Amino acid sequence: MHSAILDFLKRWDVEYRESLSLAEYSSIGCGGRARLVVFPSSINTTAALISFLNDLGAPYRVIGNMTNTLFRDCEYSGILIKTDKLNKYFVAENTVTVEAGALYKRLAARLSLIGISLFEELFMIPGSIGAMVLGNAGAHGKETSGLFISGEFLNPSGERITLSRDEMDFAYRTSYARSLGLVCLSVTLRCFPDSFSNIASRIKRFADIRRAAQPTNLPSLGSVFKKHDGVGMGYYIERAGLSGYRIGGAEVSRKHAGFIVNVGGATASDVIALRDFIKVRVFEKFGFMPEEEIEVL
Ligand SMILES: Cc1cc2nc3c(=O)[nH]c(=O)nc-3n(C[C@H](O)[C@H](O)[C@H](O)COP(=O)(O)OP(=O)(O)OC[C@H]3O[C@@H](n4cnc5c(N)ncnc54)[C@H](O)[C@@H]3O)c2cc1C
Repeated sequence: MHSAILDFLKRWDVEYRESLSLAEYSSIGCGGRARLVVFPSSINTTAALISFLNDLGAPYRVIGNMTNTLFRDCEYSGILIKTDKLNKYFVAENTVTVEAGALYKRLAARLSLIGISLFEELFMIPGSIGAMVLGNAGAHGKETSGLFISGEFLNPSGERITLSRDEMDFAYRTSYARSLGLVCLSVTLRCFPDSFSNIASRIKRFADIRRAAQPTNLPSLGSVFKKHDGVGMGYYIERAGLSGYRIGGAEVSRKHAGFIVNVGGATASDVIALRDFIKVRVFEKFGFMPEEEIEVL
């Protein structure tokens, strides 16, 4: 099966790497290796590749910027389809259509130069647009769903479908497409005309708030857990006495207890052990089990 996949990749001229260290790509700087990581550069190639893998019965996973996903320390044996090169976009009147792998931050910065604004509240989220739409990423009271007009997805049988905002059924950190495990290919977002200086000053304001409240200088996966009853988990974790608690190189951030940071040499096992320890402590103290926001593969 492996050689058939490599043949396909060569025939379609798709970039790939074998036995790749995922720690280099993950925003928390740890995790094992992947046997095969593929970097398709067009939507048509991505769709053809997925259809080929479906026919072959080969397990695969589409992955974005790896800022919300932790890979265990062992080898990940499925094929990873990394969307980094799916980053083209075009602007029409009050909309931008963008491929799923484009980073929100980079897109927003580029659009600001031509006087187009998205939500500056989301600027410090380091994810790809596709993952942000699927997981309805949000910050400072705004969510990605607020920008979403429509998106192109691959359904499990490999058909390309378009979903509107209503069909996406967005909710806190999820969507219809995410719950079905659809692959996001591209999305159309609404955008707003504004001056570069207005946009830049709002970006600065939200970036300053972030830097003051979060450990932006250390590798992490952002908030490890979802809010509980509308309250960020940092509140509970801090009151459970866990700020600064460390397992190996993984530490509950002293600046924001909702984050686990890599203070040096953390393994994915350290992060997982710390996550589980937090869950037990919070359950013992507050009587509920924190729900994870990050995904462990
Ligand atoms: C410092 C920091 C701050 C953060 N702040 C916030 C915040 O304020 N708000 C917030 O909501 N999140 C925040 N996050 C979390 C994270 O950035 C978001 O969840 C983001 O949406 C993840 O994007 P990604 O491309 O890194 O996704 P990945 O981690 O690569 O993937 C996430 C999930 O989506 C799937 N996926 C990715 N792309 C596709 C695709 N094209 N089609 C199908 N499935 C796909 C993956 O398989 C995985 O299941 C933060 C993270 C960090 C490190």
